[in-house]
Amino acid sequence: LPVLAIVGRPNVGKSALVNRVLGRREAVVEDKPGVTRDRVAYKAEWAGRRFTLVDTGGWEPDAAGINAAVAAQAEVAIDLADVVLFVVDSNVGATATDEHVVKLLRRANRPVFLAANKVDDARQEAQSSALWSLGLGEPYPVSALHGRGVADLLDLIMAKMPEVSAVAKQELGGPRRVAILGRPNVGKSSLLNKAAGEERVVVNELAGTTRDPVDEQIELGGKVWTFVDTAGIRKRVHLQQGADFYASLRTSAALEKAEVAVVVLDVTEPISTQDLRIIDLVLESGRALVLAFNKWDLLDDDRRRYLEREIEQDLHHVTWAPRVNISARTGRHLEKLVPALELALESWDTRVPTGKFNAFLAELTASHPHPVRGGKQPRILFGTQAASRPPTFVLFTTGFLDPGYRRYVQRRLREIYGFEGSPIVVNMRVRE
Ligand code: GDP
Repeated sequence: LPVLAIVGRPNVGKSALVNRVLGRREAVVEDKPGVTRDRVAYKAEWAGRRFTLVDTGGWEPDAAGINAAVAAQAEVAIDLADVVLFVVDSNVGATATDEHVVKLLRRANRPVFLAANKVDDARQEAQSSALWSLGLGEPYPVSALHGRGVADLLDLIMAKMPEVSAVAKQELGGPRRVAILGRPNVGKSSLLNKAAGEERVVVNELAGTTRDPVDEQIELGGKVWTFVDTAGIRKRVHLQQGADFYASLRTSAALEKAEVAVVVLDVTEPISTQDLRIIDLVLESGRALVLAFNKWDLLDDDRRRYLEREIEQDLHHVTWAPRVNISARTGRHLEKLVPALELALESWDTRVPTGKFNAFLAELTASHPHPVRGGKQPRILFGTQAASRPPTFVLFTTGFLDPGYRRYVQRRLREIYGFEGSPIVVNMRVRE
């Protein structure tokens, strides 16, 4: 989904504006799991268009650090956004901090809308015109509190939002999109540098390429790949407060743009809840997954035994993900990353013809029928693959299938078709 980021100093009314946008459509508001500190990314909808709304107002920097903190949060949000809504308090006017954010906005070259907030009635509208001085074009007077002007502004914003997400664009051709994910210090930037350092390509005009400055195109294994959100890996934004939620936000945003995720793990340290949370975000996003065990050069026999046990315990739910054991430092086995990515994407793209899928279901139900429950035995009437990326199947049944039986269907699907590197989804429709 396209991303709208709301940026501004503390107390200008960002959260009120977010609530305004989301408020009338309570049903589409949902928590973004994995964001522990605060809610920052919301699924939102306006005039029938869906988008991700990013609120940077979730925390307040201490007074001394306002400038630096606002700039840092703005920088992160601007990188992620397709469109930025910059909010200024019209009663206060432009401050030095605002001017600073404006510089960032100019450099980022994103469509920006300037909201002059707290214009609660027509008499106050005049004071918002002072904000022309920011050089961001027309200030739009709004009142987040009363809703005044908000709808009109959102209509204008929607007109500037890209129609299709980066992933949808990708289906028209162009390099495949990879996100490198992992907690800090696992070696993401080392991996990226090693890969890019050796085989960087300067791509001029590739068909269907989205030219996003935070992405990089790198040739690996004779093919060009787009590594998404590499700015987030290369440029380390040092945040004291909120570091966690920006990490989660970056992960979610990168996944939004990517087709396949490489989750980098550090073999010298135990697999942590943070690692698992990142993997969960990948699973939830429905993207393909490759696990890269990095710093293999530092692995000794003792640690290796522990690692094997941890993998067994903590990663049993993703045994289908290809694993590569690499060293970003020495370059060990980096070449194995490409076949792993290709395998994962091939699985992710797979379409099982309906005939074949129903033959599979017939065989499965004959050899292993659903157990009888309360005198009834739900039957699978037929099934079809409703979507790929990831493969999504729908079963039409005469009653609810036991969760255990649904897992059995999933397991058999993997046994027969593999789907290495891709999550698969099995849904159910009960026919009365
Ligand atoms: P990031 O935060 O995930 O981008 O991690 P970095 O790439 O900055 O790496 C963190 C630290 O681990 C740096 O000191 C790297 O030099 C080191 N490092 C990364 N990969 C490897 C590796 O394969 N082997 C060894 N020995 N050190 C590594």
